[in-house]
Amino acid sequence: MDTRERIDFDVLFVGAGPANLAGAIRLMQLAAERNLQIEVAVIEKGGDIGSHALSGAILNPMALRELFPDYRTAGCPVETDVRGDGLYLLTERRQYKVPFVPKYLRNEGYHVVSLSKLVRWLADQAETLGVNVFPGFAGQEILFDDNNHKVIGIRTGDKGVDAHGKAKPNFEPGIDIVAKVTAFGEGAKGSLLRELDQKCQIFDSAMPQTFETGIKEVIQLPEHNFFTDSPINDIHTLGYPLDLNAHSGGFIYEMKDNKISLGFVVGLAYTNPMTDLYEAFTRFKQHPFVRDIIERGKVVEQGARALGNGGYYAIPKLAVNGAVLVGSSASMTNAPALKGIHTAMKSGMLAAEAIMEALTKEDVTEKTLSVYHRLFENSWLKNDVYVGRNFAQAVSKRVPAKLVHLGAQYVTGGRGIIDGMPTHEDSQTLQPLKSSDQSATEKPRESLVYDTVLFVDKLTGVYLSKTQHREDEPCHLIVHDTRLCVTECLKRYRSPCTRFCPGNVYEIETDEVTGESKLKLNPSNCLHCKTCEIKDPYKNITWTCPEGGEGPKYTLT
Ligand code: SF4
Repeated sequence: MDTRERIDFDVLFVGAGPANLAGAIRLMQLAAERNLQIEVAVIEKGGDIGSHALSGAILNPMALRELFPDYRTAGCPVETDVRGDGLYLLTERRQYKVPFVPKYLRNEGYHVVSLSKLVRWLADQAETLGVNVFPGFAGQEILFDDNNHKVIGIRTGDKGVDAHGKAKPNFEPGIDIVAKVTAFGEGAKGSLLRELDQKCQIFDSAMPQTFETGIKEVIQLPEHNFFTDSPINDIHTLGYPLDLNAHSGGFIYEMKDNKISLGFVVGLAYTNPMTDLYEAFTRFKQHPFVRDIIERGKVVEQGARALGNGGYYAIPKLAVNGAVLVGSSASMTNAPALKGIHTAMKSGMLAAEAIMEALTKEDVTEKTLSVYHRLFENSWLKNDVYVGRNFAQAVSKRVPAKLVHLGAQYVTGGRGIIDGMPTHEDSQTLQPLKSSDQSATEKPRESLVYDTVLFVDKLTGVYLSKTQHREDEPCHLIVHDTRLCVTECLKRYRSPCTRFCPGNVYEIETDEVTGESKLKLNPSNCLHCKTCEIKDPYKNITWTCPEGGEGPKYTLT
């Protein structure tokens, strides 16, 4: 007999990101308008609310204003307002200011925020309205009804299991959280969506999900710094250190108290297996233009995250029996504008309206919950997502085709030359190395110098993310066939996991006795960015949720 504890709610939100928190708040607002008593819960795998939240982050306040018209006076944590935008093309030693900023990147009047602080504030608002918010609980599996037709909640992961899967003295079994409706808002590449897709084929009619990975830092600058007298406090860059064939770019945003948010984003459709995301991030920081901005600074937090950029044609089924998908899990991003917070929030708010209708009708079938899809199609959110429907496909092309497609999309509101441009999964785009290209791809470059203050190496970066995992727990990274890593992947691609993982989790080492290469894993370094599951060319890696409460502990990102 199963002795797991069971808790029942009307609605369960899985993941305390902006989509689900906005959804939970909107649901409570709707319930209050109808004088309805409902029990709502939000669970979050991070140890604290906001500890796994990472984004650029410039916030278009549209959705926030709809939720809280007085959000500024209500204490919403805004770092700064954008005063002016600048776009720069970087070559190896120089920068050129692009004479006009594309409309998608014009952010004047928007807010620079710390997503971590913003979601903490949203969680406080949700709790004030009566939502139960539980950090430290990871959704491990989806619960279905006896016929496997309807989602009825989730089971959280067990705690206190040793590396061999045996219960330790402090073992706590996972809890079954049962709800009439479950909202999945786990962010990009959510691990429960894999299971939902197997049962409900949510991705069958969508184009492949595509992603980009951003590595980001918060840097403390001295009191008098670049931004003190600058009319521009929102900077984007193109070019160096990757060439224009790659989809990549940097950003620097002014925060309050002389801090900045600085990051470098790489589209995961890149083809060169020698691409090293962390090295690119560091070279971006060491470019003379960026170095001048951040001089005398100190890195105070670092993190990494994959972001969905698939857009409208990659949207999965938004509702199934007993569940809805929101935010980045549902591909709700405006890719050309590099924004996903306001779109995530609005998707949660629209889902809340559909959930309220379903609760009122006492009918949580896919048919009733699909009101969410209709609401989406008739909202401003659809326009925001639709404009980037061919963007990921265009930026994954080489120049000049990339520029032609992007230009055509710019003047046609996203339609471009081919509407519904085909795309590929990011795991399929790496080109095998030929022995003739190996010297070219590995040509010696000026080596990177880390000073441990402003330029930190990968392991110091992991330390600055405050990532923690118990050493004696089952490895949450499943490498299905470790022989493949050395018999195939090492030879064809030179082990790209060692370069796309920003946490130094994957290493290829030589066995001292046999002299053979083998994979070594350092799962306790994992930043939960999900890049490995997305980019591995053999789909040989599955990221699973470790014990609830583990992973990064972001407070400023
Ligand atoms: Fe990201 Fe995977 Fe590396 Fe973890 S192991 S930091 S999820 S790439």
